[in-house]
Amino acid sequence: MQSSTKTNIDHYHVVIVGMGPTGLVLANLLGLADLRILILDKFMEPYDLPRAVHLDDEIMRIFQVIGVANEMEKIFRPNLGMRFVDEKNNLLLDWPRSQEIGKNGWKPSYKFHQPDLERILYNRIRKLPGVDIKKGCEAIEAVSNANSVSLRVSDTKRDTIYNIESDFVVGCDGARSFVRNHMGIELEDFGFVEDWLVVDIVLKKERPDLGLFSIQFCGGEQPATYSPGTGHRLRWEFALKEGTCKEEALNPEYVWGLLSRWVNSDEADIERKAIYTFRSTLANDWVKGRFVLAGDSAHLTPPFMGQGMCIGLRDTSNLAWKLISILKSHTTLSFLNSYQIERRPHAKEYILTAIKLGKMLGELRSEASGEKRKPIHMKSLTPKIGKAFKIKEADFARNLSMQPMLSNGEYIDELIGYNFCLYIDEELAKDYKMDAIDIPIFRSNYDTSVKEYLKSLSTKAILVRPDKYVLGSANTLEELNNLLSFKFIRNLTDNMYGKEKLNQWGLK
Ligand SMILES: Cc1cc2nc3c(=O)[nH]c(=O)nc-3n(C[C@H](O)[C@H](O)[C@H](O)COP(=O)(O)OP(=O)(O)OC[C@H]3O[C@@H](n4cnc5c(N)ncnc54)[C@H](O)[C@@H]3O)c2cc1C
Repeated sequence: MQSSTKTNIDHYHVVIVGMGPTGLVLANLLGLADLRILILDKFMEPYDLPRAVHLDDEIMRIFQVIGVANEMEKIFRPNLGMRFVDEKNNLLLDWPRSQEIGKNGWKPSYKFHQPDLERILYNRIRKLPGVDIKKGCEAIEAVSNANSVSLRVSDTKRDTIYNIESDFVVGCDGARSFVRNHMGIELEDFGFVEDWLVVDIVLKKERPDLGLFSIQFCGGEQPATYSPGTGHRLRWEFALKEGTCKEEALNPEYVWGLLSRWVNSDEADIERKAIYTFRSTLANDWVKGRFVLAGDSAHLTPPFMGQGMCIGLRDTSNLAWKLISILKSHTTLSFLNSYQIERRPHAKEYILTAIKLGKMLGELRSEASGEKRKPIHMKSLTPKIGKAFKIKEADFARNLSMQPMLSNGEYIDELIGYNFCLYIDEELAKDYKMDAIDIPIFRSNYDTSVKEYLKSLSTKAILVRPDKYVLGSANTLEELNNLLSFKFIRNLTDNMYGKEKLNQWGLK
C-alpha cells in the first residue's frame, strides 16, 4: 500500500502516532470534523499476526458514526457466545450472546478478521481531505513547546529525518508505546502474566461439528481456547506449559500435535501463529500537557473477554469530541483531564474481569466428587464512565444511551452523528426556549420510540454526548437549564458532524 499525502503542511491539529485500529478510528473521528490530522506508522503494512476477533455493539455504534458500520457488518458474523467447560466437557460457565438486535441498535457481539477491519478503516481515512497518511515513518523524538508539540520523525523509505509541529500528539502506538515512554508514564500492573500460543487456521473442508460457540477448555494440563472466526478461519489459543521453549512451540509439528484433538493437516492450513505474553497493565496518566495516550499504549488486557481493541476504540470516541472542542471552540486545555477521569476506571473494570476469566481457565475444574457443578451465567459488562462533571444524576447517567429505532425503521444515531442530542418530553419542551439550543432535539411527539425511551427511564429529558454516553437528565425547567448550561456543549455543536456531512462527502 502506498502512503498518501494530501496536503503539504507542517503544522497539524493532531498527529496520531500508530495506525492500528485505535489510531485509524481516531483519525476518522477527527478527520470528519475538518481538523488537519497526520497519522503515521513506522511500518508500511498492517500488523499481520493473529489478534482481535471479537467486538461488541458499542463499537458498532462508533463505526456507525464514521459511516463504516454497514460495510463492516457485511464481513462480520454475529457471535453466538462463549462457554467454559472442564476436562470432561461439563459446562462451567455460559455467556450466550443474543442473536436479536439489542438496545444499541446492533446485535450484541460480532466476530471478524482484524486485517479486514483495519483495511476498511484505512480506506475511509484516505477519503478524508484533512487527513495525511505517512507509512514507514517512525516517531523518534518529541518536544513540548509553549503552545504546541514537535515530533521528530524518521522516514525509513526516504532515509530522511524531519520535524512536524502539532497542537496535540496522540500515542496510539501500542504496547511498547514511544509516546508513553517519552511522557515518562508508569504502568499500574495487575499481575497477570502468561505466555500463550495463538494459532489461526483456515479450513480446507467444512467442519460444522466444531460449532460456532467459543469454548474455553479449563483446568487440565494446558488450558486452551477455541474461537471460531469468519469464513473458514478458526482460532485456537494454548497456555504454554512452564518450561516450554517458545521456538519449539512455534514448530508446525508441535502446533499440529496440539490441534490434533480437533483438526488435522489434511483438513486445514495454518495461516498464522504467534506467542504472546498476555499482560494486564494500565497507564497511570493518560494525558500530559499536549500528549495523550489511547488504545494499547494506555492499557493491556488478557484477551479472554475479546475486549482489548474495544477498550481502545471507546477511548477514541471519548477523546475525539474533547479534542474537537478544544481545537475548534477554544474550550480550555484542562477539559482533556475528563478523558482520563472517565476512561481509566472504565478500562480497569474490563481488565480486572478479563483477569478473573483467565484465572478461571486455569483453576475451574470438575469437582473431585465427580458431581457436576451448576454453570455460572455471565452477562456483558456495562460499567459507567468515571465522574468528570459536577452534575446531579439519575441511575442511568454516565452509562451508554440506547439507540432507538424510529417508526420508519431508521436508527436515531444516523440522524445525530457525532454530536450532542437532547431527548425531551413535549410538555417540558413547551416551557423552554428550545431555539436557543443548537443540537439535535428529539421531542416525545417526534416518534413513539422517543416517547417510549423517556418513559422507560422515568424522566422528562436526557442529554446524550457525542460518544453516546448519557451526560444527565432533567425533570424540571431548572434541572434542564442546569443540564444545558455546560459551556462545552454550546461551543462544540457547530463543529460536529452527522449524516449530512457523510452524504456531502460521498461517504454514505
Ligand atoms: C491473541 C490476541 C487476541 C485478541 N483478541 C481481541 C479481541 O477478540 N477483541 C478485542 O477487542 N481485542 C483483542 N485483542 C487486542 C487487540 O488486538 C489490541 O488491543 C489492538 O490491536 C490494539 O490496537 P492499537 O491500535 O491500540 O495498537 P496496535 O494495533 O498495536 O497499533 C500500534 C501501531 O503503532 C505503530 N507504532 C509503534 N511505535 C511507533 C512509532 N514510534 N512511530 C510510528 N508508529 C509506531 C505500530 O507499528 C503499530 O502499527 C487481542 C490481542 C491478542 C494478542
